[in-house]
Amino acid sequence: MGEPAADLSRYDVIVVGSGPAGVSAAINVANRKRSVALLGGQAPFGRIRKAPWIANYPGFTSASGEELAAAFERHLEEFDVPVIGEKVSKIIPDVDELVVFGEREVYHAGAVVLATGVYREAEIEGEEDLVGQGVSYCVTCDGRLFAGRRAAFISYVPEGEEEAAALAEDFGVDVTYLPLYQGDHRLPEGVRVLSGARPTRLARADGHVRVSLPGEDLQVDAVFIYKNSVSPRTLLEGLASDGRHVTVGRRMETGVPGVYAAGDCTGEPYQTAKAVGEGQVAALEAVRFLRKRTRAAAAGPDA
Ligand SMILES: Cc1cc2nc3c(=O)[nH]c(=O)nc-3n(C[C@H](O)[C@H](O)[C@H](O)COP(=O)(O)OP(=O)(O)OC[C@H]3O[C@@H](n4cnc5c(N)ncnc54)[C@H](O)[C@@H]3O)c2cc1C
Repeated sequence: MGEPAADLSRYDVIVVGSGPAGVSAAINVANRKRSVALLGGQAPFGRIRKAPWIANYPGFTSASGEELAAAFERHLEEFDVPVIGEKVSKIIPDVDELVVFGEREVYHAGAVVLATGVYREAEIEGEEDLVGQGVSYCVTCDGRLFAGRRAAFISYVPEGEEEAAALAEDFGVDVTYLPLYQGDHRLPEGVRVLSGARPTRLARADGHVRVSLPGEDLQVDAVFIYKNSVSPRTLLEGLASDGRHVTVGRRMETGVPGVYAAGDCTGEPYQTAKAVGEGQVAALEAVRFLRKRTRAAAAGPDA
């Protein structure tokens, strides 16, 4: 069993992503008696559930993804690991900790394991270049910077509506909502909705961000983008990646102190057994990192 966290926003290790890699990492941290939480996105175990049949995972000759996900859930329960249905949009290193931004809450951890699966989302031209310069994926982190100003909110999924509403209502931002999905929208009065307007380009112009749309352009102070997943590069500044995969060493270390990565997000082969193995290595290394840091702190600055 893992150590229960005294404060529900602070953990020794936070695991981001609820597939086989994240589950393995969380169980292995808990097994070492450290407090751990799994932040699993809105639909935890979403991807593995889609596998109709997994024929090559040792010990299970005929498991479906559903069955494996159910077994993972039972295992996490057994180890008292909380599975929190929040998508992480940003991680910021601070003194001796990592600050992890969910959609509702802000969490703190001594170490983080990224297990977010493979990143497949399309990007708008210019999006990547403007991250931190007008493009944001995190209302909780950046909403207040644009209070009283204008923002475009581009959302690939209906879940973005709640975030856009928060941006308008909690932070007083003048929001234009661009849904890139079909269906009705539920947004507060005052939020302008531009349906069927697919942005083709984002660029900085005269201190603003110009959103190129078929027919008209929007001139805004910020562009918030809501997707099911977040590219490794935008999740954490300084994380080395090839755009889709996080670069790691043999110990699943990323190069950012205290941050490890495991599973499909580190590269091919996209396979369950590989994800589980890397999750374990990442967890043990994260625990080792915490232990080393505690020892160094106890020895003092002159040691
Ligand atoms: C149809 C299908 C068939 C497959 N068949 C096989 C097979 O036969 N054998 C085999 O070994 N493998 C198979 N796979 C591949 C296997 O499912 C993956 O390799 C495995 O799930 C990878 O595990 P992972 O933990 O790295 O990532 P994933 O299982 O992708 O889990 C990542 C999780 O993290 C969540 N997440 C992403 N970003 C965030 C964020 N920012 N915050 C919070 N949560 C986030 C996602 O929602 C997702 O649930 C199959 C996959 C599919 C889709």
